Amino acid sequence: MRTKIGIPRALFSYLYFPFWYTFFSKLGLEVIISSSTSKQSLDFGVKEAVNDACLPIKLYHGHVVELKDKVDVLFLPRLVNVKGSGKETFCPKFLGLPDMIRNSIAGLPEIIDENIELVHDIFPLNKACHKIARRLDKSGFVVWRAINSGKKSQQAFLKHLAQGISADRAIDMMIAGKTLQLPEEKPSSADISLAVLGYPYLVYDSFINADLFARMQEMGVNLQTVEMVPPQCLKKQGKHLVKNLFWHFSNRTVRANLFYLTEHKVDGIVHVTAFGCGPDTMVNKLMELEAKDYERTPFMTLSLDEHTGEAGVATRVEAFVDMLRLRKNKGHVKNMNNWGNIWRDRDIWV
Ligand code: SF4
Repeated sequence: MRTKIGIPRALFSYLYFPFWYTFFSKLGLEVIISSSTSKQSLDFGVKEAVNDACLPIKLYHGHVVELKDKVDVLFLPRLVNVKGSGKETFCPKFLGLPDMIRNSIAGLPEIIDENIELVHDIFPLNKACHKIARRLDKSGFVVWRAINSGKKSQQAFLKHLAQGISADRAIDMMIAGKTLQLPEEKPSSADISLAVLGYPYLVYDSFINADLFARMQEMGVNLQTVEMVPPQCLKKQGKHLVKNLFWHFSNRTVRANLFYLTEHKVDGIVHVTAFGCGPDTMVNKLMELEAKDYERTPFMTLSLDEHTGEAGVATRVEAFVDMLRLRKNKGHVKNMNNWGNIWRDRDIWV
């Protein structure tokens, strides 16, 4: 019987799941991902996590609870950094995740909690993957092949996110073995262009954000996300900041905000954040000030917690979009720049 390995559908899975899914599958394991977030995962998470944890961390606990009795091994890596000079890491809560889970949830199976630290080394990803594979009694050529297949899946996945496909949907299609098809280029009838920016586990989790994507599309809004910004453009925007932040996802969000304010102009910005998020207290203020500086672009903060209701999100979003339409009709129209698709195949850790 194949070993079953569980991966929670939470936090970094929204961006990096395809690599690990393909890697473990090619090693001969059966990969089980938890279901999309539901009331049950939220309740499990709230029960098991410490009280002052942010919503995404609580949800991670909830997804682990769902998986723990279904798998032989849990993959809960300690994500430290994935690129760059090593000056930026993931939020401190990511670094303590495996310890938090061990101390909060009873009856866990074996946990693979390898450090993922992809800087200051030669072929760091290969080394980390070989280390993980050894714990699963795999070695040699099969590991090398699994890493290469993983990279290809990851590239394909990121290209889909760049086309505006939601990560949750892309993950489901991948698990179902369906080839991801890029959406056909159709002339859009949307009259408002809105950048919905934030961490992938908030923007793509349709349960906790009350189906923000679908809701906005129904309102005739053309959505832009952090993942739709080509990596080189994000890097370039980093040079315009007086100082970069310490956290990887935060830097991506702040840079995407600048990109949509300066290079690919939108009618408004929505920052999706979690109540109680430490890094976002700084990120949110920075984004708001940038929006004010660039032609006073309308900016809205959507703060989510376990009590966020659909009605509350709907009312705020509708009011914001109505205000943008009014503003646009009064003549505050901005030009849309055409920045082209300049993704490179080697961009897999974004
Ligand atoms: S960045 Fe914020 S929302 Fe994300 S895990 Fe850290 S504290 Fe929570």
